[in-house]
Amino acid sequence: MDYQGFFKDALDDLREQGNYRIFAELERHCGAFPKATSRGANSAGENALDDVTIWCSNDYLGMGQNPKVLAAMHAALDRCGAGSGGTRNISGTTHDHVLLEAELADLHGKESALLFTSGYVSNWAALGTIAGRIPGCVVLSDALNHASMIEGIRHSKAERMVWKHNDLEDLEAKLAALPLDCPKLIAFESVYSMDGDIAPIAQICDLADKYNAMTYLDEVHAVGLYGPRGGGIAERDGLMDRLTVIEGTLGKAYGVVGGYIAASDELCDFVRSFASGFIFTTALPPAIAAGAAASVRHLKQSTVERDMQKSNVAKVRAKLEQVGIPHVTNASHIIPVMVGDPVKCKFISDVLLKDYGVYIQPINYPTVPKGTERLRITPSPVHSDRDIDHLITALGELWEQCRLARQPIAAQ
Ligand code: PMP
Repeated sequence: MDYQGFFKDALDDLREQGNYRIFAELERHCGAFPKATSRGANSAGENALDDVTIWCSNDYLGMGQNPKVLAAMHAALDRCGAGSGGTRNISGTTHDHVLLEAELADLHGKESALLFTSGYVSNWAALGTIAGRIPGCVVLSDALNHASMIEGIRHSKAERMVWKHNDLEDLEAKLAALPLDCPKLIAFESVYSMDGDIAPIAQICDLADKYNAMTYLDEVHAVGLYGPRGGGIAERDGLMDRLTVIEGTLGKAYGVVGGYIAASDELCDFVRSFASGFIFTTALPPAIAAGAAASVRHLKQSTVERDMQKSNVAKVRAKLEQVGIPHVTNASHIIPVMVGDPVKCKFISDVLLKDYGVYIQPINYPTVPKGTERLRITPSPVHSDRDIDHLITALGELWEQCRLARQPIAAQ
């Protein structure tokens, strides 16, 4: 077989379908977020270094540059060195890991928490292990669940029933079709990353109680951002004790990297003891654990970042409405600006970067359905009013240039 030819053909297919991903190469400058420098060709084809404002970061609160987080990481680096030196089981568990797990258990009002190297791995390993090890377990999975949850469920080899996104009637019909004594796990997210819509968590918990199911909630796009201490939507709505497992990331609002689950002592111990994705991989560096713990601790007591972010989200929404740029109205911090055409979406993103110094990665199929191509905007507390005005002017001019319709799009 011509292996190289096979790889090249597959990549050519992606290019033809418009699905080939091109990364913007950024130079980040400590303390400057959301400003950065972008490397690449400008409109004149010259290799250039351009100043850009990042409008699509998942470092939602700018905690990746927070002085307390940086100080904790520097101190741990000097104290412990670079890596953890092993898996959690074989010399890789440090005091920093244990402290972070305690911080996370407390955040979600759970007995225990368990760290993983990313949010992706936490979903893959925890869902794969819980659903895979309980005999006859059926997983009821929301249709828009993240790839890491889907892969975890696949890996479990448990039966999977996909319910229509956020549709309680469909979920109930599927639950009711199963015997009451059949083990069930309802897997869903709180804030969905591409539309920014929020799950009806209380009603899902009611159904879980009625049909004797466990619940697994991915709060990756909510932890640090919602609730009085940043415990997510479940904390905000007083529902944390109704959920069997809460899963989160340390790589988005907390600004570092890593993932975790929070649950009962028994469940965490079970995953710790059986999940290959936990057991057979090098533990996160202690400096990462220390930085993440500082971030979690800070956002438990400070609402400054959340309040400023909310205010900037409201400003961007209001200005988009004023100029009639279509965007999904939702109750979260994620603003999907709808372009509805893959070529125009990519074009707008390219021109924004090269000519306006505005960086927003285009979101095209297969990440979102065809015809719903979009620019996903995530305002942070550190965007200035000038940044916002510049963004709106740039979008307005490009909307004109691309002859795109102007009107608000209602919530889905
Ligand atoms: N869950 C959801 C809903 C996500 O959007 C993501 C990442 N985009 C993850 C899990 C994975 O988290 P991490 O980036 O920490 O691996």
